[in-house]
Amino acid sequence: MVTRTVIVVGGGASGMMAAGQAASVGAKVLLLEKMPRPGRKLGITGKGRCNLTNVASPAEFIAHFGATGIFLRQAFHRFSNDELVAFFEGLGVPTVVERGGRIFPSSGQARDVVDALTGWIRTQGVVVRNGAVVDGLLIEGGRVRGVRDSDGKDHPADAVIVATGGVSYPATGSTGDGYRLAKAAGHSIVPVRPALVPLETKGDVAPRLQGLSMRNVNVGVLVDGAKRGEMFGEMLFTHFGLSGPVILSLSGEVADALNAGGRVDISIDLKPALDERKLDERLLRDLDLHGKRKFETLLKGLLPTKMIPLCVEQVGISPDRRGYQITAGERGRLRAWLNDFRLEVVGVRPIAEAIVTAGGVDTKEIDPRTMASRRVDGLYFAGEVMDVDADTGGYNLQAAFSTGWLAGRSAAEG
Ligand SMILES: Cc1cc2nc3c(=O)[nH]c(=O)nc-3n(C[C@H](O)[C@H](O)[C@H](O)COP(=O)(O)OP(=O)(O)OC[C@H]3O[C@@H](n4cnc5c(N)ncnc54)[C@H](O)[C@@H]3O)c2cc1C
Repeated sequence: MVTRTVIVVGGGASGMMAAGQAASVGAKVLLLEKMPRPGRKLGITGKGRCNLTNVASPAEFIAHFGATGIFLRQAFHRFSNDELVAFFEGLGVPTVVERGGRIFPSSGQARDVVDALTGWIRTQGVVVRNGAVVDGLLIEGGRVRGVRDSDGKDHPADAVIVATGGVSYPATGSTGDGYRLAKAAGHSIVPVRPALVPLETKGDVAPRLQGLSMRNVNVGVLVDGAKRGEMFGEMLFTHFGLSGPVILSLSGEVADALNAGGRVDISIDLKPALDERKLDERLLRDLDLHGKRKFETLLKGLLPTKMIPLCVEQVGISPDRRGYQITAGERGRLRAWLNDFRLEVVGVRPIAEAIVTAGGVDTKEIDPRTMASRRVDGLYFAGEVMDVDADTGGYNLQAAFSTGWLAGRSAAEG
């Protein structure tokens, strides 16, 4: 049997998985990575802890990817979350399940995931060339023949896997080269836009709370006053606005509404466990018990210290007012504020700051059973370069690994 030569363009999560899998079934594999070493983005995922995947069922996985989720069904079926966990355990990287079914390496180090993968591809016989930028695909008669690098050198191959990622966090190497390569090969590119991106808010409210992280809050998106989405979890105030898991997950909805010209507000329920009646009872109890305390002091039991001056200001109750002096109307204002603390959104951060790039190579032109191009024989795609993106929780990396697995095996087997 003739040994097939496979070139993988890009050494991210998907490219390393593709390269190792292709080599494991007998292909001669060359991995070309433009950065000084592979896995730069992988190394910063999950705040340096790498949320590898999730315990979710296949149906839940697909649902997290929205309209293009169904395209990933076969990839998830061929290389599932359970198989990914077993794969890393086999490489000496045991994992733990955390809140929301998120799976991380037990060591809490994304670095361990990168080291395990780079070590593994070498043992599979993959030749890795770092600092190698692929500039073009060599295509003849509707079939890929190899790639050309930025030094003008041609590298022949029977199959090429484009695994160049999106355009977010360009310092990690993903600068959108794959879109240009795919377009030149006759593929359509669904316009790219930021997904999972922080939000910019009006005024100085967020900057005043900069660095404050809120857990167990319920965050709603209001478009022209009507609720369009909500999510419970963790968020963060920054110097420009809002970030953190819940905000990132809601950002797609926000971006669409802003693009459509709507006014968007984020409504934060700081006490989601207490409905209006229970919250009122709680406030009454506090005011009764500590009636002589100043309003400002009373707030300490309800809010993080950094939020107190803002609350005092926005609710319009003097900080020196004693608990027993607070009227029912004032209590009502405080209750409303705690349940519906609002910030107007004026924009989303640039795509370079997005966790994931939405859009990319149109999945309609890729065979979901193999990740092969429907335009050019021998050409394959893997990972974020394709029009697939999900919310936070480990889904994006699982998609990169699953599509990388499938592209690698398919390219090697031809
Ligand atoms: C800060 C941050 C945190 C994240 N955390 C998580 C998380 O915890 N869990 C999760 O599921 N997802 C997370 N993601 C998303 C996840 O990292 C990506 O979806 C995933 O890395 C995509 O993998 P990929 O292989 O497709 O692309 P990438 O990982 O971007 O890899 C692409 C590679 O291709 C190389 N390349 C590009 N162009 C060329 C070229 N012309 N020639 C040669 N090489 C080239 C690049 O240098 C890069 O190494 C996070 C993303 C960011 C930015």
